[in-house]
Amino acid sequence: EVQMTQTQHAKEYVNQLLKTVEDRNPNELEFQQAVKEVLDSLIPVLVKNPTYIQQGVLERMIEPERLITFRVPWVDDNGKVNVNRGFRVQFNSALGPYKGGLRFHPSVNASIVKFLGFEQILKNSLTGQPIGGGKGGSDFDPKGKSDMEIMRFCQSFMTELSKHIGPDIDVPAGDIGVGAKEIGYMFGQYKKLKGAYEAGVLTGKGIGYGGSLGRKEATGYGTVYFVEEMMKDQGSSFDQSTVVVSGSGNVSIYAMEKAIQLGAKVVACSDSSGYIYDPNGINLDTVKQLKEVDDKRIHEYVKEHPDASFEIGCSGIWSVACDIALPCATQNELDKEAAEMLVSNGVKAVGEGANMPSTQEAIDIFLDNEVLFAPAKAANAGGVAVSALEMAQNSTRLAWTEEEVDGRLHDIMKNIYRNSLEQSKAYDAPGNFVVGANIAGFVRVADAMIEQGII
Ligand code: GLU
Repeated sequence: EVQMTQTQHAKEYVNQLLKTVEDRNPNELEFQQAVKEVLDSLIPVLVKNPTYIQQGVLERMIEPERLITFRVPWVDDNGKVNVNRGFRVQFNSALGPYKGGLRFHPSVNASIVKFLGFEQILKNSLTGQPIGGGKGGSDFDPKGKSDMEIMRFCQSFMTELSKHIGPDIDVPAGDIGVGAKEIGYMFGQYKKLKGAYEAGVLTGKGIGYGGSLGRKEATGYGTVYFVEEMMKDQGSSFDQSTVVVSGSGNVSIYAMEKAIQLGAKVVACSDSSGYIYDPNGINLDTVKQLKEVDDKRIHEYVKEHPDASFEIGCSGIWSVACDIALPCATQNELDKEAAEMLVSNGVKAVGEGANMPSTQEAIDIFLDNEVLFAPAKAANAGGVAVSALEMAQNSTRLAWTEEEVDGRLHDIMKNIYRNSLEQSKAYDAPGNFVVGANIAGFVRVADAMIEQGII
């Protein structure tokens, strides 16, 4: 009876907060979605620990410490002046300098940056590393731009961003549309503006000038390591299983690579134009050549592999039967219909390599059908975890071996798995990693915020 009223009280409190988020961030649907998913799962924690309510931890956590919006002017190859909008959200610094990627994509706006930044707080906390949560980017579209246009854009972007970041302040990295090339151009500009070599100001740098071995592979490998742990506990594995991986960017390529190394057959991957299906198992060398070197569309794959087929549209990939599905493309790419198709085709595990790729309805379908589900903030935390290892190497002016980095990444992913599992059990949702990861991530940040006072 008493327990009931307390739960009711916590629910009302959470609904009030969600209302605040809606009022204060109108039309920011992705941000509202991310906050709602997290707050709903924290209700049992609030019931057990009323201090979090008394200390206003959530009221503070849902409001970014700072949101910077800026003009990014640049001149294209035809001499035309272009203007894009730049963003950096410095969301939470309880655990360390703000940390999170930069996304260059036409869809980038305040809602996208805030949803990603909010998720980043809890993800970074889960890694156990000393990093706060941030995110940024621009609505600039790198597709079809020349190298020099990309360089000029990156320089202009950094001219403004440099006023707000630093190795102990805020440490950006890559995300969609931002890889080693863009990081290099931005690092060069930052160095020139500061007149100092602050290696730890950005992560995902080239290996020759302060980047970490294993960073490129980390997000994809980490996603597979997490799913491997989930499956091991159920007596199954990647070996001999059929896998579908959406996307063909950095996360997707290295998730495929690790899955193949573990004995799986990856039969489909995609890009924004459509997906390929190869019944013989995808040839990763071809995909790497197309995507990492030639910057071509994925349908070119079928020219070299005639048994493979190409279909237009990206959501169709979820109709391909598989044991394990790894959404590694973008937010809300896997909806209710896609989840129903996967379940009816017998999917056993889903691991989110992208950020918030599954809609809430899709997640509910997986959980209701006892599909092992690894949520993004746990499953894709390997990327930012190795970014934190890059920062550690930069601080000590040392460079670790690939084995050293991969070993630490593997341990971090196993720890995230164990902590999430334990919290899911402690809060009566055993095996629900959505609940487990949200709680494990939240508790570390919340306790640090309380210890640091109302700031
Ligand atoms: N963009 C990646 C993420 O979503 C990596 C961020 C980083 O390395 O700072 O976590």
